[in-house]
Amino acid sequence: MSGTRPINCIIPPYILDKLLDSENSEVRQAALDTMLLTARLRGERAIRSSFTGAAAPGDGRRTVFDCEQEEFLRNAVLARPEDGPESTDPAVNRAFDALGLTRDFYKEVFQRNSVDGQGMRLDGYVHFGFKVNNAFWDGRQMLFGDGDGQEFSNLTGSLEVISHELTHGVTDHTSGFVYHNQSGALNESMSDVFGSLVKQWSLKQRAEEADWLIGADVWTPGIGGDALRSMKDPGRAYNNPQFGKDPQPDRMSRFIHLPDTKRGDFGGVHFNSGIPNKAFYLTAVRIGGFAWEAAGTIWYEALKASSAEDQFQDFATTTFQKAGELFGAGGPEQAAVLSAWQEVEVPIRGVPTGVARIRSFAANGSGGAGREDGLAALARQIGTLNDKVTQLAKDVAELKGTR
Ligand SMILES: [Zn+2]
Repeated sequence: MSGTRPINCIIPPYILDKLLDSENSEVRQAALDTMLLTARLRGERAIRSSFTGAAAPGDGRRTVFDCEQEEFLRNAVLARPEDGPESTDPAVNRAFDALGLTRDFYKEVFQRNSVDGQGMRLDGYVHFGFKVNNAFWDGRQMLFGDGDGQEFSNLTGSLEVISHELTHGVTDHTSGFVYHNQSGALNESMSDVFGSLVKQWSLKQRAEEADWLIGADVWTPGIGGDALRSMKDPGRAYNNPQFGKDPQPDRMSRFIHLPDTKRGDFGGVHFNSGIPNKAFYLTAVRIGGFAWEAAGTIWYEALKASSAEDQFQDFATTTFQKAGELFGAGGPEQAAVLSAWQEVEVPIRGVPTGVARIRSFAANGSGGAGREDGLAALARQIGTLNDKVTQLAKDVAELKGTR
């Protein structure tokens, strides 16, 4: 785990930037404080990561602390331990419940023991700082601001915001997707995918029933129907005079090139995550049913099999391979994965682009049973070809290693 990895937070810099332009001085002040605080936390995380001592394991035992609007965790008071009674403070209980739902989701759906897979304890700090417009995961614990009450309500108010943040921990402990450019956008996307799945799982929603929104409950409480991001419609999560239009692209031809700096959102990690987000959404609705079952399992296994510097095409190829391994080559699950990535214009390695035309032809409903069989056979051939390419790549890598 790299010490230079930035602290993870839910609110993308392009939204905090807009808050600085607000006509309301209180909103401007809260935004400025949030930015300064984020910078400070980043520094603390860089220092902390040089110590190897991780949080002690404990089957994901939760402890919620109250910062009482201060910014120093050592002054926080114990508000609710795992076996303690309910608090009179709703923010404490919301954080406690969301940590528990996220932990239980990973345990029951993927047999994963907490964030690190080894029972890492889950500590949450509520009322962090004064009117802080953000929620953070600093590699060890979650911090929740209260929001300024105008552009943001209390950040404990959104389950998928909390599960988004904890999933950054899961990614750190699996692929370790490096937080810049395409691997960073994959990192962000994993958090949206599993963040949304935790919510869908807790509500027992089918893929077609879910709203696929991130942060709808905490962002701009005065504006209904909007969210920080939409996995179903990247680029259409919001459109209002203050924040402008949601800038997320939904396909590669709209990919946004930004510098790999803090101001450039580390190469647009919160922008381009719209592309893999949409691929997951399409896969889930095309398979149908509960998204955490087939689609979620394919993505989770692909996350575990991925490498830190992987690009969109690498991850797409891994999901295609995992779909074949888990549910059969040429099956409907693998076909859904293939068509989803093709729609967002991410090619899968070893798959000829002509397949896209065959796919859309079949999807248009004009294909009879015979044509479906032909498609399945083709997908199987592609799967075999893919395995050969992967093996070849491994052989080449080994040859290079022995040189
Ligand atoms: Zn994030």
